[in-house]
Amino acid sequence: MKNRSDVPDPLEALQKKLAGFGDYSLRKTYYPELQQRQEELERLKAFIDHSNDALFLVSVVSGLIVDVNESACRQTGWSRPELLVKSIFDLSALGSCPDALTLIKAPQENSGERALAVTDLFRKDGGRFPAELTLNRMYFHDVAYVLAVARDITERKRSEEALRQSEDFLKNIVDNIPAMVFAKDATDLRYVAINKAGEGVFGYPREEMLGKKDHDFFPEEQAAFFSQKDREVLARGELLEIPEETIKTRSGEDRILRAKKIPLFDSQGKACYMLGIAEDITDRKHLEEQLLQSQKMEAVGQLAGGVAHDFNNILMVIMGYGNILKMDPALEALQKARVEQIIDAAEKAAQLTRSLLSFSRKQEMNPRVAILNDLVQQVQKFLIRIIGEDIQLVTDLDPSDPLVRIDSGQIEQVLINLATNARDAMPQGGTLTIGTGLLAVDTSFVQAHGYGKPGRYALITVSDTGCGMDEKTKSRIFEPFYTTKELGKGTGLGMAIVYGIIKQHNGFIHVYSEPQIGTTFRIYLPLIEMEQQEAGEIIAPAPPKGGTETILVAEDNREVRELVREVLTSFGYVVISAEDGLEAVEKFKANRESIKLILMDIIMPKMSGKEAFHEIMQLDADVKIVYSSGYTQDIIQSRDVLDTGAELIMKPVQPIELLRKVRELLDR
Ligand code: ADP
Ligand code: MG
Repeated sequence: MKNRSDVPDPLEALQKKLAGFGDYSLRKTYYPELQQRQEELERLKAFIDHSNDALFLVSVVSGLIVDVNESACRQTGWSRPELLVKSIFDLSALGSCPDALTLIKAPQENSGERALAVTDLFRKDGGRFPAELTLNRMYFHDVAYVLAVARDITERKRSEEALRQSEDFLKNIVDNIPAMVFAKDATDLRYVAINKAGEGVFGYPREEMLGKKDHDFFPEEQAAFFSQKDREVLARGELLEIPEETIKTRSGEDRILRAKKIPLFDSQGKACYMLGIAEDITDRKHLEEQLLQSQKMEAVGQLAGGVAHDFNNILMVIMGYGNILKMDPALEALQKARVEQIIDAAEKAAQLTRSLLSFSRKQEMNPRVAILNDLVQQVQKFLIRIIGEDIQLVTDLDPSDPLVRIDSGQIEQVLINLATNARDAMPQGGTLTIGTGLLAVDTSFVQAHGYGKPGRYALITVSDTGCGMDEKTKSRIFEPFYTTKELGKGTGLGMAIVYGIIKQHNGFIHVYSEPQIGTTFRIYLPLIEMEQQEAGEIIAPAPPKGGTETILVAEDNREVRELVREVLTSFGYVVISAEDGLEAVEKFKANRESIKLILMDIIMPKMSGKEAFHEIMQLDADVKIVYSSGYTQDIIQSRDVLDTGAELIMKPVQPIELLRKVRELLDR
């Protein structure tokens, strides 16, 4: 319990003193002074009581409250007598403030005279309020006390909280803006703010960026560009738009941004911050480019296809009349040779137009369900011949055996064209890798890559370790007649044909290339799901089988003749060649016993294929024949060049198809 007599109350002491004076006259003498002292004391008390702050005089070590002002009673709701029996620790959470505890409970010589604490004060009604306490050691008559001045900071806390909330709200807004927002100070362009989208694109966490400059993150050239623009905005004091700028993100990726930079002014009108708002337009840019590219291809394709189609018809007429003229017995040898030149040139032109037709997707398609891996395995044999000995061929086939609906001949053509280019790209040798796989394309893939259509695809990848291409070449390779090869070496049609064929299969093709490192083509072909495929629908193209039979090949074009001979002999056949119809008849006469099959070009000098065959039929009615022609089947048939029902192989001759046809006929 508390001993009241301990309390040195100056007023009480004075009164005691006065009581000792019995003499009235003396009392009378002192009265005015007493009166004055009394008033001073009352004023002092009023002064203390009127303080807004609650004052507690606390006894050191015990923590007991020995005096309080009125404000203390008002704020806590306890009366003075109630308070004077409490300890300051009953009244507040000061017990958890170490400095205050030391000051009151364990005062040491050098432990300091002051402590500050922000803590809660408890009210009589059970409530509490936050207060800021200033604790000061004081001595009275050599006794140590602590004077605790408590200020109610409820209001301040409330406004701090309100401020924090509004800050949070603003931060939330800024953070959730789906655009990059950042600010830099005007003096040295250090980052002072950056939102979530900004972190996302830059790839650096906020804490890492704040206080640093562009030079700390981005390549020299980019950082210099950003700084230059920032300075420009601050100097001009107005918004600046930057339609396109590239930044290298933390992961090393290049992103294209569209930015707006805005100066922020202080109250004196001085630009003190640079506010930036930027949007990542990389994907949109790619889509635009892709769209532009496909529109270009579409337009070129339409033009090329239209021209080729009409042109082909004109060539038919030229060749038709050429052939009639050539057979005119009145022609002299020289004239005849010239007519042959004309027909020859027209034949070449026709071949060109055929390439164009396949680019513009006007080619006839004969789609069948096929096992992609089988197809790749079959073409492999030819690819090895094409690429030569210095280039190694590696295949990497997906064990899940993707099924596709394709025109096998055309897809073989695609692989042959790609392998031919790969060979040209690796004159010093290297590796050509052909792989298959499965891939699901979803909308995010389409968005990220800027091409494709959602769905499941079979994938063919063709990679080489060759010279690669720069961006400019890459963007043009599918254009017909675009070639980087020297005159006479490249036609610029290989990739255009690939493009046309893939498009016609509802697939798409993507090229990735690094100069000096290599190129990878990725071909996506719509996948046939196992469930949807009807039993027995798969017609796996039989692998081409060879044989030992003798075949007569009549073909006037030397290159085609050599190709056919090579393909057939490498599969075991014996080939007898003839350069024209007349020679074909002669060679047949000389070898009629051994020849089991005749492969005959329809249009040849000296004697047409059809005439030659009629002559041969006189010698052996059972001999088997297959015609080859560069004209589409309908045209040949409608012109009655062929006997109906005769077998026909279209040029350009595709090796696998040729082998299959030959075997099929021999086995018939
Ligand atoms: P061509 O082979 O007759 O030049 P293409 O249409 O086949 O025509 O190819 C066009 C161009 O594409 C080539 O000239 C070459 O510059 C480039 N190209 C195609 N494939 C590759 C490759 N695998 N590596 C490097 N460049 C290639
Ligand atoms: Mg080529």
